Amino acid sequence: MNFTYVALPTRVVFGAGSIRQLAAEVERLGARRVLLISTPGRAQMAARITAELAGRVAGLFDRAVMHTPLALVEAAREEARALNADCCVAVGGGSTIGFGKAIALSSALPVVAVPTTYSGSEMTTIWGVSEGGAKKTGRDPKVLPRAVIYDPELTLDLPPAVSAASGMNAIAHCAEALYAHDGNPIVSLMAEEGIRALANALPPLIAQPRDIRFRSEALYGSWLAGMTISTTSVALHHKLCHILGGFGLPHAETHSIVLPHALRYNRDAAPEAMARIRKALQGSDPATGLYDLEKSLGIPMRLADVGMKEKDLERAARSAVEAPYPNPRKVEYEPVLGLLRDAYEGRRPS
Ligand code: NAD
Repeated sequence: MNFTYVALPTRVVFGAGSIRQLAAEVERLGARRVLLISTPGRAQMAARITAELAGRVAGLFDRAVMHTPLALVEAAREEARALNADCCVAVGGGSTIGFGKAIALSSALPVVAVPTTYSGSEMTTIWGVSEGGAKKTGRDPKVLPRAVIYDPELTLDLPPAVSAASGMNAIAHCAEALYAHDGNPIVSLMAEEGIRALANALPPLIAQPRDIRFRSEALYGSWLAGMTISTTSVALHHKLCHILGGFGLPHAETHSIVLPHALRYNRDAAPEAMARIRKALQGSDPATGLYDLEKSLGIPMRLADVGMKEKDLERAARSAVEAPYPNPRKVEYEPVLGLLRDAYEGRRPS
């Protein structure tokens, strides 16, 4: 029982209808000139937020896209400068929140996040900006949102397939936090509860995507998942997904496909983590239980189905073993290649 526990200064307003507290949260920061950030597709939601912030919106940057490309990040930063913005409100998934963080990184502007997926980015100090096909990431306390509003009503229209993959991505955060070399008992409590909440909510949520009970429980699980990765290091699973992202694979789907195989890989080397995951899954084996859960959600099960080329598997496995990093089981070329092949073909872990 030797550990170091770090708590980040987060402020969370949670619950159906909590978006109505956005103006009060912005007021707490003393902000008067908000730059709203969204993706092009979320215009309706941005309009609703503008109404909530009556008189405090200086402008809208609605060009957020995946992977926070540097050129667009610079455009968003310029817009914040030109508008003399004193706060960013990012409404959307991890991609949109990534733009708020990128602005904060260079300006220290406070960010209020209104997450509408289960990425968990709003709880972390991790930023990422991509340039020329490579994504640079880092940790900086400046980018941590000063307040986060989780309103499940804003997630009712998140398409079931996106919800399912995003939810599995959140489960992956929890699973790896349970065997992180710098984990601790508090993070483990959150991780186990996060898996329980998400695994419980996702199947009925896919059947009834507009049921606020399941949306609330999934969002609660994703908050916990974000908390778990905010202070612990990730291991083989996240490293592999990062590498696969470099081949152009979609973020959340890649996480959901790889997770059961990564857990199978680490199974015998992380018995305590596996026991907690098993408990959270009501007795199911971690690897097969999550594989079966994912299958029941109707999302892609094979890397081959989300753009991976068979010829790139060996290159991905080589990248995974190149730079050493802590993982419960030694990261070695042949077994990692086997893991990737299983994920490529979508085999049920044995
Ligand atoms: P995303 O933000 O790209 O959103 C996925 C899709 O859902 C988009 O098309 C978006 O427009 C749509 N969408 C979002 N909210 C919606 C809603 N309420 N209704 C309907 N459609 C909606 O995907 P994501 O999985 O949330 O985030 C992935 C990105 O976040 C990746 O780039 C990843 O690297 C990053 N991320 C960062 C951290 C961190 O700590 N920095 C953590 C997790 C993920």
